[in-house]
Amino acid sequence: MPLSHGQFFGVQDSEQATVIVGGGAAGLMCGIMTARACAQLGLNHRITIVDGAKKIGAKILVAGGGRCNVTHHKVLPKDYAGASRNAIKRVLKAFNEQETIKFFEELGVVLKQEDTGKMFPVTDSAQTVLSALVNECDRLGVKIVNPWRAGSIESDGDGFVIHPSDDRNTSIACDRLVLATGGMALPRTGSDGAGYRFAKKFGHSVTDRVFPSLVPLVVDKSDTWVKELSGISARVTIEVRSGTGKRLASFNNELLCTHFGLSGPGVLDISRWYLDAKHNDADAALIINWLGDGRFDELDQDLQQLGKRTVAGWLRDQLPERLAKSLCEQADVDPSTPGHAITREQRRSLIRILTECPIAIERDRGFTFAEVTAGGVPLSEVTTSTMQSRVCDHLWMIGEILDVDGRIGGFNFQWAWSSGTVAGRAIAASLSAG
Ligand SMILES: Cc1cc2nc3c(=O)[nH]c(=O)nc-3n(C[C@H](O)[C@H](O)[C@H](O)COP(=O)(O)OP(=O)(O)OC[C@H]3O[C@@H](n4cnc5c(N)ncnc54)[C@H](O)[C@@H]3O)c2cc1C
Repeated sequence: MPLSHGQFFGVQDSEQATVIVGGGAAGLMCGIMTARACAQLGLNHRITIVDGAKKIGAKILVAGGGRCNVTHHKVLPKDYAGASRNAIKRVLKAFNEQETIKFFEELGVVLKQEDTGKMFPVTDSAQTVLSALVNECDRLGVKIVNPWRAGSIESDGDGFVIHPSDDRNTSIACDRLVLATGGMALPRTGSDGAGYRFAKKFGHSVTDRVFPSLVPLVVDKSDTWVKELSGISARVTIEVRSGTGKRLASFNNELLCTHFGLSGPGVLDISRWYLDAKHNDADAALIINWLGDGRFDELDQDLQQLGKRTVAGWLRDQLPERLAKSLCEQADVDPSTPGHAITREQRRSLIRILTECPIAIERDRGFTFAEVTAGGVPLSEVTTSTMQSRVCDHLWMIGEILDVDGRIGGFNFQWAWSSGTVAGRAIAASLSAG
């Protein structure tokens, strides 16, 4: 059967067409930016986004606790892991956080900055963000087709034919293909790693390891006391150290004790570094400074000057009471001991637990509870000025399918907006170049 471009089989049409597989943050942005750039260049181009999900934009809706942390007031390459920072920088620079703020403002979504630097819509509603993107797609004539899950994709010489995963839908042909299928985090939203299979088919590789990032950690049986503190949070410094004691990564942020172990932004941020280190070094460890910036010498002096004041009284100013009590138990120090009665050994033991507390981790909570994916298609396999594949003509890749993951704070969405924009503009430029 002769194929029509940009239309489902059976409809004759000679226009050129782009199909974006995946209508998450990156796919929607790419659709909008392709359409805008084509309009500017006076090109008539058909753009279709297909998405397997019944409801589009599930991840945008759950993000930031339903408020959607759209970006961060300052986005730097060091906020990311995976690909080379120079390569990440080139993409971020082409559409930075200020441009994101302006873009959303023009769509009627005003963003506000919180103390942490995170940017949220002033409505505190993720739906505002999703509606703005979908409405802009509508206004520009970008067609969103869902649920429409790609099962396989073939190259047909001039372009691609995308076959649906079930026979309720018909195949679709295009001459420009964008893979915006995300990674594997929160697979119930439809991002289950299918995109890696498509990328491999067209000659790409996927990093040896693809693992959860920004993921809560399950504490080992040997440290069940942490689980007993479920509901307690503290601002801590949390580190990953190698077996030889070298500090590999460190974050200062909130930690939340839960019924299974550890969560909260500090833990989510360190998780990918811990999992990565542990993979290569069985002795790598997670170390917590419960006082955030508590230093051994200063604390030792404080304790020596306590006089009649009890350890519990001293700790009350710095930590939640239940946590303080539990840490005293771990250090084998009675919290009701007055300062003048603490032995040197007890002081050392307590300070060590307060500032250098190793927590044994059994495992991470997996992709079901992860916010993002570490690993993916190496960024070096696309040209960063266009996001176009270096190995397959007329193929683009954007967003989380690539080996780029950011820390908590709006960095992952910024990656989606930036990479989606770069690809959209490049697709239009490639059309005008003939
Ligand atoms: C709970 C949670 C909270 C988060 N909060 C934030 C936050 O506040 N700020 C932030 O910056 N980041 C946050 N993130 C991360 C952020 O959501 C992602 O990094 C971002 O959404 C990735 O965008 P994407 O478009 O690349 O992929 P996705 O959003 O995963 O979109 C991929 C889309 O492709 C579709 N798809 C997949 N395979 C197929 C197929 N075969 N055929 C058709 N369609 C397919 C999926 O249905 C999906 O809609 C959060 C993530 C989670 C899970």
